[in-house]
Amino acid sequence: MDQAVKRVVIVGGGSAGWITAGLLACEHGLGTDAGLEITLLESANIPIIGVGEGTWPSMRATLQKIGVSEVDFLRECDASFKQGTQFDGWRDVAGADRYYHPFSLPAEYSSINLANYWLSHGRASSFADFVTPQAAIASAGKGPKQTGTPEFAFNVNYGYHFDAGRFAVFLQKHVTTRLGVKHKTGDLETVSRSANGDIEELLLSGGERIAGDLFIDCTGQRGLLIAGEYGVKLNSVKDVLFNDRAIAVQVPYELESSPIASTTRATAQSAGWVWDIGLQSRRGIGYVHSSAHVDSSQAHETLYAYLKHAAPHAKIKELSFRELEFVPGYREQFWVNNCLAIGLSAGFIEPLEASALALVEQSAGILCTHFPRDRKVMDVVARRFNEKLLYHWQGIIEFLKLHYVISERDDSEYWRDARSMQGCPQRLKEKLQLWQQQPPWHDDAPRIDELFPSASYQYVLYGMGFAPKYTETNRASYAQMKGRAEQLLSVNRDKIQQMSGLLPTNRELITTMLGASR
Ligand SMILES: Cc1cc2nc3c(=O)[nH]c(=O)nc-3n(C[C@H](O)[C@H](O)[C@H](O)COP(=O)(O)OP(=O)(O)OC[C@H]3O[C@@H](n4cnc5c(N)ncnc54)[C@H](O)[C@@H]3O)c2cc1C
Repeated sequence: MDQAVKRVVIVGGGSAGWITAGLLACEHGLGTDAGLEITLLESANIPIIGVGEGTWPSMRATLQKIGVSEVDFLRECDASFKQGTQFDGWRDVAGADRYYHPFSLPAEYSSINLANYWLSHGRASSFADFVTPQAAIASAGKGPKQTGTPEFAFNVNYGYHFDAGRFAVFLQKHVTTRLGVKHKTGDLETVSRSANGDIEELLLSGGERIAGDLFIDCTGQRGLLIAGEYGVKLNSVKDVLFNDRAIAVQVPYELESSPIASTTRATAQSAGWVWDIGLQSRRGIGYVHSSAHVDSSQAHETLYAYLKHAAPHAKIKELSFRELEFVPGYREQFWVNNCLAIGLSAGFIEPLEASALALVEQSAGILCTHFPRDRKVMDVVARRFNEKLLYHWQGIIEFLKLHYVISERDDSEYWRDARSMQGCPQRLKEKLQLWQQQPPWHDDAPRIDELFPSASYQYVLYGMGFAPKYTETNRASYAQMKGRAEQLLSVNRDKIQQMSGLLPTNRELITTMLGASR
C-alpha cells in the first residue's frame, strides 16, 4: 500500500485534460522531485465538447504558470479579454435592467465594506460603478490594460474568452513539447483492476495497454472511469437549477473592425438566458434553457429573436446551430480508489458565471498541492479532495441560484418556478435573511479558496436591486467608516475618468499586441 505514485494517466484531451496535464507537469513532472511520468490518452473518434469559451482571471495564472506566452495564446486561440459578465433583463420582464459582475473587487475590500455606505448614500449610481472603475471601463468596450502593459499584467483584473477547440490544440502543443507530457491517441475500451479495486491498466480498442498508479478521468460527460468503472452516481440538481439544454451558434462580426465586447453578455429569456461572447473573429452565442419549460423549436425561436435583435447582420439560415444536453449535477464522489474526475466527468451545472473551467483549475491545483507521493497517503488526499470539491459544488449552486431567486420576473412558468423558495438551498435562504440587515462580507464566503468571494454576492444582489430591510446609518461603526468611504469613492470616480481616456478598446488592444509581436 505504500507503493510510490509515479505514473499518472489522464484520459481525455478536452480543456480539462490538458489544463490538468499542464499544471501537474509543471509542478511534479519529469525533472521535479516527484518526477512523474504523465500520459494523456484521448480518442480520435470522440470529439471534445467544443464549448466553454468564458473564463475567469484564474486562467491568467494558469497560463502563466505553465509558461505560455499571452500573445501566442491570443493569436492561436482567437482569444479576447474578459472583464466580467453583463446581465440584461434578469430583474424584471421589461428587460431594460442591466448590471455588471466585474472581476475587480470593490476598493479595499479586505478592510472596508463599501456596500454599507452605498446602501444608505450611494444608490444614485449602480453598486458596481460606485465601488470599482471596472464596470464603466467594460461597458465602454475598453480593454483591461494599456497596450504597453506586460503580458498578464493589468489596469483592471481580467480573464479571457477563447475558442474552446483551438484552446485544446494550443495546450496540447505546449504541454507535450515543453512540459514532457506523453500524448497517446486511442479508444479506452476496458479497465483492469487489482484486488483492492484500484485501476492497474487501461485496455485500448487496438489491444494496447496503459498502466498507471493514478488515473484522472477527463472523459467529459461520459465519465468513463468515475461512472462507467466505479459507478459513482450524479447528484442531479434539476429541482434547483432547471437549465439542461443549450443551442449554440457561431456568428461572424458585421465588419472585421467591429467592437469586441469585453464582458460575457448574459440576457435573460422566458425559459433561460442567452450567452453572447466576443472573440477576435466571431461571436459565440447560445441559449441555455430548461427542457421542462420549453421544447426545442420554441427555444430555437427565442434564439432567432435574440439574433435578429443583437446581430441583425447575421443570415440566420446560413448559420449552423448545435444542440447540447446535460443533466445539471455533480458526482457523489470525485475521487475513488486511485481515480479522480476533473471537468465534465465530475459534473456540470450550467454555464452561468462560467465556473466550470475555474473548477477544473481549482481541482488540478488541489491535486498539485497535495499530490500523493505513495498509495498509502492517497486515501487521505482523496477524502480531503472529496470534501473540498463538495464544498465548491454547493457554493456554485447557491451562487447561481441567487441570480434566479431574487428576480422579480413573473412572465413565465420558468421564472415563477425559478424564483420559488422551494428549490432554494437552505444555506442561501439563511444568507438572504441575514442580508436584510447587513450586506455580504467575509463571513459569508470565509475560505481562502472560495470560488465566489462575498463581493460577487454583493455585485449580484445589489445589481438585481435587492433592497434590505435595515441599513447601517445609526451605528457607530458606520460613522467611523464614512470618511474613508467617501475618499475611496472619490478616487474611484477619478479612476473612471482617467482610465476611460487611457485605455484602448478591447479590439485595439488585441490588434496592437498581435501586431507588435510579428
Ligand atoms: C453549453 C455549455 C456552455 C459552457 N460554457 C462554459 C463557459 O463559458 N465557461 C466554462 O468555464 N465552462 C463552460 N462549459 C463547460 C466546459 O465546456 C467544460 O468544462 C470544458 O470544456 C471541459 O470539458 P472536458 O475536458 O471535461 O470534456 P470534453 O471536452 O468533452 O473532453 C472529453 C475528452 O474525453 C475523450 N474521450 C471520451 N471517451 C474516450 C475514450 N473512450 N477513450 C479515450 N478518450 C475518450 C474525448 O476524446 C475528449 O478528448 C460549458 C458547457 C456547456 C455544455
